[in-house]
Amino acid sequence: MQDRELYRRILGIETPWYVKSVDLKLDVGEVHVHLAHEPVTDWQCPECGSKCKLYDHQPERQWRHLDTCQYQTILHAEPPRSQCSQHGVKVVKLPWAEPASRFTELFEAVAIEWLKAASQKAVAGTLKLSWDEIHGIMERAVQRGLERRKAEVIPQIGIDEKAFRKGHTYLTLVNDLVGHRVLYVAPDRKESSLDGFWASLTAEQLEGIEAVAMDMWDAYINSVRAHVAGADDKIVFDKFHVAQHLGEAVDQVRRKENKILKARGDDRLAGTRYDWLRNPTGMERKDRVEFAKLRKSNLKTARAWALKETAMALYGYVYERPARKHFRWWHRWAMRSRLQPMIAVAHMLKRRFANIITYLRHRITNAASESINAKIQWVKYTARGFRNQKNFVHAIYFHCGGLDLAPGSTK
Ligand SMILES: [Zn+2]
Repeated sequence: MQDRELYRRILGIETPWYVKSVDLKLDVGEVHVHLAHEPVTDWQCPECGSKCKLYDHQPERQWRHLDTCQYQTILHAEPPRSQCSQHGVKVVKLPWAEPASRFTELFEAVAIEWLKAASQKAVAGTLKLSWDEIHGIMERAVQRGLERRKAEVIPQIGIDEKAFRKGHTYLTLVNDLVGHRVLYVAPDRKESSLDGFWASLTAEQLEGIEAVAMDMWDAYINSVRAHVAGADDKIVFDKFHVAQHLGEAVDQVRRKENKILKARGDDRLAGTRYDWLRNPTGMERKDRVEFAKLRKSNLKTARAWALKETAMALYGYVYERPARKHFRWWHRWAMRSRLQPMIAVAHMLKRRFANIITYLRHRITNAASESINAKIQWVKYTARGFRNQKNFVHAIYFHCGGLDLAPGSTK
């Protein structure tokens, strides 16, 4: 008798529900609490809330609850089914758990809080949960979070791709550059990967998009153009992506020249690859002096490097007119450089220029997504590899979606 009252209080069970019996299995460290209900004349339809007659009971189900006094605590009950004239026979909403869950809401709430901060492995070990149970809790949390999301206007977004299992498959990510959160994740990096995002927005949200940062990737460009009004004034090719193209061109020049120099016994360029890619101000004094000598030499690599640095000076401009003038001048210089990789990149930048110069208007880059990327790396690392992409997608939403994940109603 005392046991039943104690567990009723611990578990917060309220009428019409009561604790029918408590079964202590001390040898296996489990407490089984059996619940039943008083006779009730009206049950609520879970769909519309109208009063219904009891139809029958489902076979007994179990829910894992938070441990009590260090014992794994399991609730047992036969869920009643109501009969609604509109919605038919439905399992009623139980006060301690969500419909599809094998855990009580309180248990899920604790698991979610832990999963936010600790690795999946640690949480699985401490709460004695299987991988499938962990992923189930995360998936339900994400679904709730997405349902609760408000349709607010997000003026600046960034479209990014993320490799899932090195180089094999990709995910497309849409980030809120102001709110620093992931808005959307889809498999692959095709035009259709991104199309689903626009479909998730209201007309007002779609109109409210002012700028879109992205890589020079035609599939994404096509999708934005097809869905966002005035896309050509809003797309901003990512500054770091531009720098990367220039850096690769410099490296191609360096590799070729290094071979020629080496054949003559000159290894000035050997092992300098990263010196040409990074900012000299970050170097040790000695290296900086060495590198300055190389930079000022008449090596082709030094010229390529100067071209790269001069191209990037574009981003220091405030006004478009002088920036355009700078670019035209730079482009002519690159074309005359006789450095094939630099000519190729100059061609490419000219072709893409209309959406490079838009940076001066919008001042956005995908680097704003960097805190998100760092978090995704953490997710990847602490999960020690996801067996499938679906779980990885849920983990990204879970940790980076800025969602309200708590159990409970989403209506
Ligand atoms: Zn109903």
